[in-house]
Amino acid sequence: AASPSGKHITILHTNDMHARAVASSPEMGFAKVKGIFDQYRSQNPDTLTLDAGDTLHGTPFATLVRGESVVKVINEMGYDAMVPGNHDFNYGSNRLIELSQMLKFPIISSNVKKSDGTDLFKPYIIKEINGVKIGIIGFSTPETAYKTSPKNVEGLKFVDPAVEAKKAVDELKGKADVIIGVGHLGVDKSSIDTSLKLVKEVPGIDVFIDGHSHTVLEHGMQADNNTLIASTGEYTKNVGVVDLWVDGGKVVKKEAKLIDEKQAANIQPDGKVASLIASIQKEQEPVLKEKVGETPVKLEGSREKVRTGETNLGDLLADAIRDVSNSDIGMTNGGGIRASIEAGTITKGNIVTVLPFGNQIVQLKVTGEDIVAALENGVSDYPESKGGFPQVSGISFKIDKAKPKGSRVHSVMVGDKAIDPKAVYKLATNDFMSIGGDQYTMFSKYPQAGMYGALDEALISYIQKGGKVPAEAQGRITEGASP
Ligand code: ATP
Ligand code: ZN
Repeated sequence: AASPSGKHITILHTNDMHARAVASSPEMGFAKVKGIFDQYRSQNPDTLTLDAGDTLHGTPFATLVRGESVVKVINEMGYDAMVPGNHDFNYGSNRLIELSQMLKFPIISSNVKKSDGTDLFKPYIIKEINGVKIGIIGFSTPETAYKTSPKNVEGLKFVDPAVEAKKAVDELKGKADVIIGVGHLGVDKSSIDTSLKLVKEVPGIDVFIDGHSHTVLEHGMQADNNTLIASTGEYTKNVGVVDLWVDGGKVVKKEAKLIDEKQAANIQPDGKVASLIASIQKEQEPVLKEKVGETPVKLEGSREKVRTGETNLGDLLADAIRDVSNSDIGMTNGGGIRASIEAGTITKGNIVTVLPFGNQIVQLKVTGEDIVAALENGVSDYPESKGGFPQVSGISFKIDKAKPKGSRVHSVMVGDKAIDPKAVYKLATNDFMSIGGDQYTMFSKYPQAGMYGALDEALISYIQKGGKVPAEAQGRITEGASP
């Protein structure tokens, strides 16, 4: 085939790395990713490097220092820009701004607005590479508004990315030869504001570098308006490479591919990044290895289990938050439990992996009626998975899944008494749910009756003081036909 005419520009990209800094096959880790970047940069100096978000959060490596470790490492990798994903807001938007100030490259997003309507981050940047002007517009998923704790995004609005895209593309006309979208939007049908929808509504975007849905696009996807959507999947399993040829101020050819562990077998991990990661790990090791206790059985926290039913880890955590706050009831969302703990020693690292969000324990004084409404919300998708599935303590109930949503909870007992809809109970939950996260909107009208520190710390002290580690789910939540 004839080689394409024009100037050749390579875009290297990553998304949804979720702070997987360290290699763990098939995850390549940040040092190898940098090695791949450098290999391509040496082949073509006219290279742009972009990240599509969910980068700064997701492992103890990141959580322990609220993202700073990841910032240090990605600063060495040579990015030109990144967009914030929903998980990048997990330390709160103020912390994200602090982290953005530590970054050597900009965070861009056109659809995150402050309460006065101004942009939280630069909506776009223009880079000139070998005489080609490239406009790069950022987007964040509007799902961030409810996929992180509401207090993390207080005062922020996530507006329609397609509307902002249209504005930015209009502004870039005449200023940029090439327009690239980089978004944490996703192509998954479960999202409303997908990149597919955006490029359909907004012509003029040559390439869209995407994330959020963890979709692997081996050779990109030819979408509407001749936009090429590229996305690498997740967790550093692939590096994305998009090649563009630009002639007469126009893209004349574009191609996307992914580089995985196998294809990168002969590429060396970057030494500087590897030793930086190693030195951060060494600092963190004593904290993460600290022994908290023992468990004779596996504590079940896997996504499929903890979002569809009661588990022993769910019970333990709900017991811990009820105990520390001296409440009648403990209730915490299954989606907030992010990992299991294997039988044997329980370390601080295990606990941080299970509970990475830094949630606080909140006590509310709630009517029996609203407790039941909360349980109905939690099991509305049962037996399908739902982040809001409740893990409970001090309370038991049955689910009649033959009944419609909103009326399937029955036989609710608080302690050994039937729940009284008019009585007021002390409920311990997490701050995410207390302000309406996972659709627990019935809680948001109650003022906080007390704060009891962090969830992870409560779990640690509960285990340390000899709190019972349940061998199996305690039968607090069961199926049964309503009487
Ligand atoms: P990704 O962005 O990686 O594609 P996601 O975070 O959008 O994934 P999930 O992994 O399903 O999707 O996470 C959403 C769930 O996580 C919520 O429904 C909720 O249960 C839980 N969650 C998110 N943030 C918090 C928080 N701060 N506290 C407690 N639970 C949380
Ligand atoms: Zn995401």
